[in-house]
Amino acid sequence: MESEETLERTAPGAVLAGKAQGFPGYMTVDLAALRRNFQRIASMTRPARVSAVVKADAYGLGAIRVAETLLEVGCRDFFVAHAEEAIALRPHISSDARLFVLNGLLPGAEAACASAQVTPVINSLTQLYRWRTQARAESRRLPAVLQFDTGMSRLGFAPADRAAVREEIAQSPELEIHYVMSHLASADEPAKPQNAAQLAAMQTVVEEFAPVPSCFANSAGVLMGKDYHGSLVRPGLALYGGAPQLDGANPMEPVVTLSVAVAQTRTVPRGTLVGYSGTHVTNECTRLATLCAGYADGLPRSLSGRGAVYFEGQRLPIVGRVSMDSLTVDISDLPNDALDLGSLVEVIGPHQTLEMLAADAGTISYEILTGLGRRFFRSYC
Ligand SMILES: *Cc1c(COP(=O)(O)O)cnc(C)c1O
Repeated sequence: MESEETLERTAPGAVLAGKAQGFPGYMTVDLAALRRNFQRIASMTRPARVSAVVKADAYGLGAIRVAETLLEVGCRDFFVAHAEEAIALRPHISSDARLFVLNGLLPGAEAACASAQVTPVINSLTQLYRWRTQARAESRRLPAVLQFDTGMSRLGFAPADRAAVREEIAQSPELEIHYVMSHLASADEPAKPQNAAQLAAMQTVVEEFAPVPSCFANSAGVLMGKDYHGSLVRPGLALYGGAPQLDGANPMEPVVTLSVAVAQTRTVPRGTLVGYSGTHVTNECTRLATLCAGYADGLPRSLSGRGAVYFEGQRLPIVGRVSMDSLTVDISDLPNDALDLGSLVEVIGPHQTLEMLAADAGTISYEILTGLGRRFFRSYC
């Protein structure tokens, strides 16, 4: 009886004494840490301005909450990937803040971008012409960023286009060019020669388009020093606590934690098959816990038989295949009664960073963050 009463009085989503109340998992987003990460980047890059890359729903953290939080600490420049993302975010950010679309202008998006005060990153002459046509049709100036390919071969004007771009811009008073921009391909490995080559190429662009301000560094570029900062830096991952570079200490504060609930525990004898296809066979009497999260929640199937979760600092290895909605861990090293129905175990937190989980999954922290599912209870603190 008593436990039923407790249930009724408990707010949905609450965590009581380490126990899940109705949700398979609990994700927390520390907005104060997010603010401090922004300020830390600002102090590392002054006098450059700091923007925030909030594409893909702010890497899965919630673009509206993230943008609102960063507006409070003075951020006025936000980058998304697609026009639709920018248009959805526009009502939530102040009118003095700018919204840039990294992937540029797709045919048909011009009028919507113009009316939502969205600034496209122009990657090709076709996009430039279409945006200029829009400006002329509306008889007003429209803002643009020009992106140049400095060696990544992904987006932006090729070096051979630059003379034509300069000529077109000279004849396009209706376009207001906010920045010349490029993107680093290898800044997570600062020693790679590609970085210096891209910097040199970018310096040429900056000279050719002077006095237009420049926008170059992503999170890893922020750590590469002053030469890479330009006028506006463009971090995403570092704001969200991810490690910008592969080696060395992570200077950023963690922002995200994830705990997942135990659905069931069991003790099985030696020789028991665990999970789909019986890929794991116990080699001794083993205690198992099945957790309420799987690959549909963003814990990649590549974690099958690899990686771990933690409980009070104790590593609990993942055994067998990761299922769509669950995975199984070996809890034999814990006292018998340590975990039961609803107990929460740490997936991302003080004992396991995003990077550790990503490494076990054979991927990068970006993919883990952006993939974390929508079935967890989310709280912002
Ligand atoms: C995603 C992205 C960023 C942000 O990169 P981080 O490594 O997350 O800081 C910056 N610029 C461009 C062009 C991007 O696509």
